[in-house]
Amino acid sequence: MYNELSKLLSTGDKNTLAELIKHYCENASFEERQNLALHAEKIRNEVYGARVFFRGLIEVSNYCKNDCYYCGIRKGNKNAIRYRLDENQILSSCAMGHKMGFRTFVLQGGEDAYFTDERLCSIIYKIKNEFSDSAVTLSLGERSFDSYKKLFGAGADRYLLRHETANVKHYARLHPPQLNFENRKKCLYDLKEIGFQVGAGFMVNSPYQTYKTLADDFMFLHNLQPHMVGIGPFIAHKDTRFAGVENKSSDKTVVILSLVRIMLSKALIPATTALNSIDTKGREKGLRAGANVLMPNLTPTIYRDNYNLYDNKLSVGLESVQGIEILKKHIEELGLIADFSRGDHKDINFI
Ligand code: SAM
Repeated sequence: MYNELSKLLSTGDKNTLAELIKHYCENASFEERQNLALHAEKIRNEVYGARVFFRGLIEVSNYCKNDCYYCGIRKGNKNAIRYRLDENQILSSCAMGHKMGFRTFVLQGGEDAYFTDERLCSIIYKIKNEFSDSAVTLSLGERSFDSYKKLFGAGADRYLLRHETANVKHYARLHPPQLNFENRKKCLYDLKEIGFQVGAGFMVNSPYQTYKTLADDFMFLHNLQPHMVGIGPFIAHKDTRFAGVENKSSDKTVVILSLVRIMLSKALIPATTALNSIDTKGREKGLRAGANVLMPNLTPTIYRDNYNLYDNKLSVGLESVQGIEILKKHIEELGLIADFSRGDHKDINFI
């Protein structure tokens, strides 16, 4: 399987790659899919052990200057109740997480002009100063090379920026004309050049996605070699043009997680909140398919419902730090180890 996949990736045979992805998503028997997941788990365990790395997620703002057609916090959604956290709220969220054992804080938000380089650098600097044993991951969208460089200089370690789709035409069907795949790609390569641990990724079953666009995603990831890959199902949001689109089962996402794990053995791959939001067993299925990261929500509870990317997004219970002890137990019951260390990528030597 690994040989087949890597041959297709190195020869650039996208049509056969698309067929292979389709086979596992649509035609493979239950047993074949199970073997795929087992193989992916085995690869993950060989690289990282049976560990699940925990990250504390802080959703810093749902203001966004963009109008991505699928996203509930897009600028044009007048029904979104907007909020942003200030420096003190972000620092106290980190303090709460640090007390619970978290050693990575992920600051995610819409593209909010309030978060200038100056403000962000001050926040990053303070987090790194107060919690010097912790990593800071940012997920704040597209910025200039200079801006990313300043954020890295202030101490940020990692940056998540899903590429969304590596097919130019597909990208244009999901985003307004102001946004394009070329710039998204440039941002990812800029981040890598600067020295960030970089995360790319995409939604599974996004509108207009085909096995050919998925093959483009695989080729793109193979070329970029990101440290992290975020893959979750598309889920419709009522205030977007895709409101009526039926949510699919989690099966395809789970298969794609395994294929990506087999392709990028060292990647840090979350079992996403979105996966768990469409399937009550999503977390377990993701971890059983080769994922090795969980990101419980550390955002102050009063704001959580407002970071509403898609309908019925989970933000409480086991998706939140309030459920952390139960979640740890759940991980152990699966035969996995809950790991609260920084959890850097295998190739990064953090001293
Ligand atoms: N603004 C930052 C960015 O562009 O990377 C981070 C925030 S953005 C809301 C985070 C991710 O949410 C996106 O990369 C997208 O893949 C995901 N997302 C948005 N709408 C979604 C939906 N309807 N279903 C599933 N995932 C969605």
